[in-house]
Amino acid sequence: MTQSVVILGGGTAGWMTASYLRAAFADRVDVTVVESRRIGTIGVGEATFSTVRHFFDYLGLSEADWMPECNGTYKLAVRLENWRAPGTYFYHPFERMRVVDGVPLTDWWQKVGASGHFDRDCFLIPWLCDAKASPRHLDHRLFEQDFDEAPDRPLFRTTLAEQNTQFPYAYHFDAALLADFLSRYAVRRGVDRIIDDVVDVRLDEQGWIAGLVTREHGELTADLYVDCSGFRSRLLGDALAEPFVSFQDALPNDRAVALRVPADTAAQGIRPCTTATAQDAGWIWTIPLYDRIGTGYVYAGDYCEPEEAERALREFVGPAAADLEANHIRMRIGRSQRAWVNNCVGIGLAAGFVEPLQSTGIFLIQHAIEQLVRYFPGTNRDPVLRDTYNLSTARAIEGVREFLILHYRGAARADNDYWRDAKSRAVPDDMAQRLEQWQSRLPDNDTTYPYYHAFEPYSYVCMALGLGGFPLRHPPVLDVVDARAARAELARVREQARTLVDALPSHVEYLASLRR
Ligand code: FAD
Repeated sequence: MTQSVVILGGGTAGWMTASYLRAAFADRVDVTVVESRRIGTIGVGEATFSTVRHFFDYLGLSEADWMPECNGTYKLAVRLENWRAPGTYFYHPFERMRVVDGVPLTDWWQKVGASGHFDRDCFLIPWLCDAKASPRHLDHRLFEQDFDEAPDRPLFRTTLAEQNTQFPYAYHFDAALLADFLSRYAVRRGVDRIIDDVVDVRLDEQGWIAGLVTREHGELTADLYVDCSGFRSRLLGDALAEPFVSFQDALPNDRAVALRVPADTAAQGIRPCTTATAQDAGWIWTIPLYDRIGTGYVYAGDYCEPEEAERALREFVGPAAADLEANHIRMRIGRSQRAWVNNCVGIGLAAGFVEPLQSTGIFLIQHAIEQLVRYFPGTNRDPVLRDTYNLSTARAIEGVREFLILHYRGAARADNDYWRDAKSRAVPDDMAQRLEQWQSRLPDNDTTYPYYHAFEPYSYVCMALGLGGFPLRHPPVLDVVDARAARAELARVREQARTLVDALPSHVEYLASLRR
């Protein structure tokens, strides 16, 4: 018997879920998306994490298929500006750490580092970002071949679970264009699309969803309901009244104001990274797309009024912001206690969100969808499937919370109440001990959050070194071992970086070649 899923919501979460379920199950599962014309999508969410590559692979989409249509660009890193002090910056690259004689290169760098910039001394990607270079040659080869692209099978399905190395980049894209692209992909493959409002939710006597009542299309019924209704959380939060666990005591940013800034990127060049610039009450994102810049100020309402935030953002952007309309957004930071309750699974903002620093919203959606496919219940009501899914998705978002807390705890910046208070906010119980350990020793496998949440220990190392707030020192053993191999490796990074910057086309040149 064909099984059925109804997805409420046609934002990034709704269409990612619909297209992925179709790719996974083909016509063995009927999928319907109902989305409102009256209620808009959130309209932000344009930077991704490097795992997103698996999503497009799974759908059988090449970069040439979707990037030009969604004004896509490459993202090789996050560039963090002013977190240590005004005028400073460092990169958090999608590039694993080199190891010399069993010791991470950044540990060696603390002892023998040459330039004072750990990122440029230990990694290649910061050089590519500074040079606005493409991560691919014009013949499409990646700048490094650690990641198995299986050239004989260019479009093969992979999942997060199979990722065995750090893919060296993620993407930026126009969120509205991507949702539109995915909706066409999904509808072409048989997903039903209904434009209507869900005005009521009917529950049966056990509290399971029995149907979604729409304004014009009657009642929609299914075996499984997926709530992708955004911060409204119309099914999980409203109808099923699942409690919400707020993260705001640890991460106070609960508002954002965003602008879409037209830009002549071909003339200016496109730096292949997201920039996060620290501000008085939060930080500003700068996301370069092919035809414009997406930018926004994420801030804490307790420290900054919306008008003040908009003024700061407009000043940051300069004259190009003059006639642009600002989009003010309230954010609900935290997670539903359970993301899957009875026959309803929340995905995207409906289930939870941690502020957009390090761009994890779409990663969490992708992770949730993969888990849903893995634990897909069909008509089975086994609670173990739900419990396992809930554990896995809760662990992922809590890991992200921990990584983001590090940004504020670890930042040397303490020049006003917002930044000073960040140093004394509550942290989750088991993080307190890890924070202690990071004061004197760089994070590693044994001292970072133990469950899958996409970030590896090297990411924590980049933060600890770049943010500048911890009194770190090199491991004492490095005083009594030979450092020649480490010095040679540091020199090799520099040499490879020089060769690559000379050989790679510019980011703009490569993207233009995809459009021909
Ligand atoms: P929405 O986009 O809000 O979509 C909700 C959908 O539900 C809409 O289609 C609406 O019509 C429909 N709907 C709601 N109620 C009804 C109803 N009653 N009847 C019918 N339809 C209904 N993530 C990243 O990965 N990278 C980023 O850089 C990033 N930046 C962000 C910046 C900010 C300020 C915020 C707030 C989020 C950011 N995110 C980011 C998160 C990202 O935007 C979201 O995860 C993503 O867009 C998914 O949104 P959504 O689909 O869950 O909800």
